[in-house]
Amino acid sequence: ITANAIALAEGKAIVGEPSSGTDELALLDQTFHKMSSALKQALEQEAKLARVDALSQLPNRFYFSETVVESSATMQPGPKRFCIVICDIDKFKLINDRFGHAVGDEAIKLTAQRIQQSIRDSDIAARWGGEEFIVSLPKTDVAGAAILAERIRTSIMESTLVYGDIELSFTISCGVAELLPDEDIEHLIQRADAALYRAKKDGRNRIMVATSDERLPSTSGMMQALP
Ligand code: GH3
Ligand code: MG
Ligand code: MG
Repeated sequence: ITANAIALAEGKAIVGEPSSGTDELALLDQTFHKMSSALKQALEQEAKLARVDALSQLPNRFYFSETVVESSATMQPGPKRFCIVICDIDKFKLINDRFGHAVGDEAIKLTAQRIQQSIRDSDIAARWGGEEFIVSLPKTDVAGAAILAERIRTSIMESTLVYGDIELSFTISCGVAELLPDEDIEHLIQRADAALYRAKKDGRNRIMVATSDERLPSTSGMMQALP
């Protein structure tokens, strides 16, 4: 009992089965076991909250970055290595402005569901930002990733969001990029982002595949425009 009390005080799980007696020491021991399992549950809940986005129920950006960077360390060189797809809801600000943020939130949830329904078990989809999502596709070449992005885009375009009396359809754009030899994940994501930017510029509701030297247009002009 003393050892278990010390373990609990240190926030650690306790060992052994609870005593079965009804004397005061046995009751104390049983209480320690209850405290331990409540603590374990609370810690598990805390860990889940730290990695899951509450609105979309997808992994969050933090969890995605951790796991993808970790798994990239063990990626073998060669074909069909690794791809990233970044999806962004088109004209999302308009959805919020016209129908309210609750409907905007539903659009985020619907998008998350469609993405989750479209991917394989080995793929990870996460909420990357407000209305942006990212998918990691291990052992996939760019042709496979483009097919998946297209499947996600089509499934969202063909969906109807129903919220009370409101019915609406919306679209997404995607950027797709395949990991280059000697490229780090951060750079890969930048290229996918730049391809997404091109998809937006080209009229939205489309996917674009990143070139090996894909870059966002220079922001130097914008900087100069600042006062
Ligand atoms: P584009 O087609 O170029 O992507 O335009 P857009 O309107 O989708 O893009 P923009 O970045 O201008 O707008 C994103 C908006 O998303 C702005 C922000 O208020 C909203 N937003 C971010 N997170 C949430 C959220 O959790 N819920 C809701 N309802 N809105 C959010
Ligand atoms: Mg966006
Ligand atoms: Mg958007």
